[in-house]
Amino acid sequence: MRGFEKLQELKDNMMKPIYEKRRHLGCELCGHTFYDYYKKTGLYGVPNGEESPHPTRKGMIIVHTYDDVFYPRCSKCWCDGTVRDAKTATAIYEKQAEKDRKKAERKAKKDAEPVKISRKLTYANKQAYYDRIDYLAANPNEMTKYEIMSSYFMDKVFWKRFGAGCYELECRHFTIKKHLWDGTYMSNSGKTRMGRFTPYFEVTNNQTGKVREVGTESVKRAIERETRFGKNRRNDPERNWGLPKNG
Ligand SMILES: [Zn+2]
Repeated sequence: MRGFEKLQELKDNMMKPIYEKRRHLGCELCGHTFYDYYKKTGLYGVPNGEESPHPTRKGMIIVHTYDDVFYPRCSKCWCDGTVRDAKTATAIYEKQAEKDRKKAERKAKKDAEPVKISRKLTYANKQAYYDRIDYLAANPNEMTKYEIMSSYFMDKVFWKRFGAGCYELECRHFTIKKHLWDGTYMSNSGKTRMGRFTPYFEVTNNQTGKVREVGTESVKRAIERETRFGKNRRNDPERNWGLPKNG
């Protein structure tokens, strides 16, 4: 044991200046820079090669690797594993901040663009569009003819007012009833429900008695999609009943 203790002492003496040196550090997550010391425990070690304390000669036992030198936690956000030397951390933080800024800029630009629902239905920007849905969910009598004629838009209003499901709404002299066309089916394994429901609306003019269906086109498209891609491969002999082709 004597030899081991000597090695330990040798190692401790070599390591001492590493732990005792005050360092300028930074957090790549929050951008905070601060002064602190390397620690003996932590999540991420200091990269190898930095101030290597052990000149090893051939045949000598390596008394130290960098396995036990760690960066401390961030002194501001208290994150572990996000601290580097101040320069590196700041560079990483600023790069990410710039990325986030550009992303927010792109989103703001997109949100400012007009929202086009149909040929006759356009809103000044995303906020105006959402505000309009909120407003009509509370005041359905204010819905314009073009809004009633868009199943996509009306579905948004119905969702806002009632949530999921089929409901009836009175709008001036119209009665609007939401229906859902069931395009769902069970997966080949029979475990998962696939496909989706397509909303359409029955609009009754209570003055004339005339009934009009809105969103029939969307349902037709959904049916076409299904016919084209097949509801269930296991029902399809042309696709080998959903089984892999083996030679
Ligand atoms: Zn931090």
